[in-house]
Amino acid sequence: MLTLRQLFLNNNAQTTHFPLLLEFERAEGVYIYDKTGKAHTDLISGIGVSNLGHSNPRVVQAVKNQVDKYMHLMVYGEYVQTPQVRFAEKLVSILPKSLNSVYFTNSGGEAVEGALKLAKRFTGRQQIVAFNNSYHGSTHGALSVMGNEEFKQAYRPLLPGISFINLNSLPGLDLITSQTACVILETIQGEAGVRVPDAAYMQALRNRCTQVGALLILDEIQAAFGRTGKLFAFEHFDIIPDILLLAKALGGGMPVGAFIAGVDVMAALKENPILGHITTFGGHPVCCAAGLAALEVLLEEGLVQQVAEKEAIIRNYLTHPAIKQIRGKGLMLAVEFKSFELNKKIIDRCIENGIITDWFLHCSNSMRLAPPLIITAPQLINACNIITEAIDFHADATCVK
Ligand code: PMP
Repeated sequence: MLTLRQLFLNNNAQTTHFPLLLEFERAEGVYIYDKTGKAHTDLISGIGVSNLGHSNPRVVQAVKNQVDKYMHLMVYGEYVQTPQVRFAEKLVSILPKSLNSVYFTNSGGEAVEGALKLAKRFTGRQQIVAFNNSYHGSTHGALSVMGNEEFKQAYRPLLPGISFINLNSLPGLDLITSQTACVILETIQGEAGVRVPDAAYMQALRNRCTQVGALLILDEIQAAFGRTGKLFAFEHFDIIPDILLLAKALGGGMPVGAFIAGVDVMAALKENPILGHITTFGGHPVCCAAGLAALEVLLEEGLVQQVAEKEAIIRNYLTHPAIKQIRGKGLMLAVEFKSFELNKKIIDRCIENGIITDWFLHCSNSMRLAPPLIITAPQLINACNIITEAIDFHADATCVK
């Protein structure tokens, strides 16, 4: 009889030759448990999803309650479905007034697609400005605005009319013109290895977009919901986007994304043609119920306010001469080593020792640290000790900066 692992390799599509192949039975809090009962600390929150940890009881209960009432009823945007309405109401209540119309999708990539279409439709323009080293998803539109040739080149033709500029480089703003429909960027770049822009740059970017009438799309699919120490990452920069993109932690572990704009902007999807963006499952009632519960827990438990303190613990306990730098904000951090090879060895040893981490798509020499926001100080210190041991084990004198 084939093992589960063999079946996985045979029948489940693979997109690398080296999947992690860990097998888990259940997950709770910051831990994921394997078949032997061993607890693995999830230091990456399933790539930025599990901000409340795994299986938060209120989220689980919300899912169960909604499943008992109804699951799919109709394609998005026709019926008045309580979970979608209540969730949008809550999101709008915590966002700036100008972001008051929520379009729910299934995923981050689909939120990106919807936003790009909306910007083109609203402005009547075709050109898009995106950023080098960005990541916005894997669908054709999202791939078109990805700032990394290695992942794009095999899939051309992609969307035309896209220019790429560098984060924090003011001269690049000249490429944003009255022909530009939108500028899309991650408020804090994730897969680039956590790159935090300067506030002055973000403000200049916001001003430039306003000046030429281009919509500013901020992708907070990875950075929102307290991950960086603010509920939304744009709050660090004192700017407000025209369209905000959310996914990942939005659903509390269930799949849902959203693009959020002003009701006047969003209205462009209603006319010429009608049904400007359609999704069957977007805003699935069970996912929206889970998302609403997750957001209530996040706010009620004051988790966002604890993030800076937890970041400080990591920065205090994770010091080693082989660490070139720790970049990022809050619990969205990148630990940089001299090479991918060293980083990979350290990560592998961490995984053996029960700490799950990985590297970044566009930055392979840096280790990802994005633990659930609920992680406690002792859990964080323990994780830092295990990482330090792994660095000691692999880093020799040549690794020291
Ligand atoms: N934008 C950002 C910043 C992301 O990190 C991701 C996912 N890693 C996406 C978009 C795409 O989201 P999804 O995988 O849900 O399509």
